[in-house]
Amino acid sequence: MPLLSLIVPCFNEEEGLPEFFKRTEKIHAQLGIDFEYYFVNDGSTDQTLNILRQMAAENEDVHYLSLSRNFGKEAAMLAGLEASSGDFVTILDADLQDPPELLLEMFEKIQAEDVDCVAAKRTDRSGEPVIISLFSRLFYKLINKVTQTPIIDGVRDFRLMTRQMTDAILSLTETNRFSKGLFTWVGFQTEYVEFANEKRTTGESKWNFSSKVRYAIDGIVNFSEAPLDFVTYSGLSMVVMTLLAIIILIIRQLFFHRSVSGWTSMVVIMLFCFGFTLLTLGVIGKYISTLFLEVKKRPIYIIKEKK
Ligand code: UDP
Ligand code: MG
Repeated sequence: MPLLSLIVPCFNEEEGLPEFFKRTEKIHAQLGIDFEYYFVNDGSTDQTLNILRQMAAENEDVHYLSLSRNFGKEAAMLAGLEASSGDFVTILDADLQDPPELLLEMFEKIQAEDVDCVAAKRTDRSGEPVIISLFSRLFYKLINKVTQTPIIDGVRDFRLMTRQMTDAILSLTETNRFSKGLFTWVGFQTEYVEFANEKRTTGESKWNFSSKVRYAIDGIVNFSEAPLDFVTYSGLSMVVMTLLAIIILIIRQLFFHRSVSGWTSMVVIMLFCFGFTLLTLGVIGKYISTLFLEVKKRPIYIIKEKK
C-alpha cells in the first residue's frame, strides 16, 4: 500500500488544526492508503505546539517538528519535506485554504495519468483586496517575462508529488528558497486541478503588503538576471548619451561661444543621475546580499523538538 506524507507548515494555527485533522482524516478513510503527517510548528506563539503534541500522542500517524523560532513557510516546508518518507508527498496549509478534498482528484490523476506532480490552481482571487490582486497579477506577468522558469499565476504550494520529484527538490540546496520557482525548475510533468478560492476560516493570514513585495523581489532575484541586465544596459546607454552631449557642448562652446545657460536642466540631470545610481546600487546590493546568504551556508531551519 502506498504511503502518503502530508506536510503541514503551521504558524499560529491553534484554532484551525483540529478541524484540519478531521477533514484530512476523512480523506484518509476514503483514499484507503497509509498517511503520515508531518506538522511543522514554525515558531508559533500560541497553543499550536501543545495541540500538535496532543495530536501526536493520540494518533501514531501524526509526527511533528517544532522549529526553534519562526523561519518562514519556505523553511517549514523544507523541514517537513526532509523528514518525510512517503511514496507520495503533499504540502497543505493548515488554514484549510487548500481544501484536502482535492487530494482525491489529485491522487487519481497522479496514478492514472503517469505524471509526477498534480498541483492545485486557484481559478479566482475572491476574498482578496483588489489592489493585492492587481499587484499579484502584475508580478506574475513580470516574473514570467524575465525568467526562463515559468511561474503560473494562481498555483499554490499545495501539490501532490512523487518521491522522485520530492528528492529532486531536496537536492537543491540553496538557502534562499523560492519554492514556486524550484517546483518548476526541477522539471517533471505537472498537471493542474482547479478550485475556487477559499477564505481562511480561522486565524489570520501572515502576509501583508510589504511581505508580498519582498516575496516578489526574492522570486525575481533568485530566478532571473534581468534586473542586472537592465541596469547594465541603461547605464551603458546613459554613458553613450552623455558622451554625445559632451561633444555637442564642447563644439557649441568652442565654435559658437555660447555659454551654458540652464541651471534647471543641470539640476534635473544631476537628480536623475543620482537617483539612477542609487537604484543601480540597490539592485546590485540585492544580488550581493543573496550571494552572501548562500555563501554563509547557514542551516535553513533549526529543529528544537520532534516526534
Ligand atoms: N506559515 C508558516 N510560517 C510563516 C507563515 C506562514 O509556516 O512564517 C504557514 C501558515 O501557518 C499556513 C501557511 O503557511 O499554514 C500559509 O500561510 P498564510 O495562510 O498566512 O498564507 P496565505 O494563505 O494568506 O497565502
Ligand atoms: Mg492561508
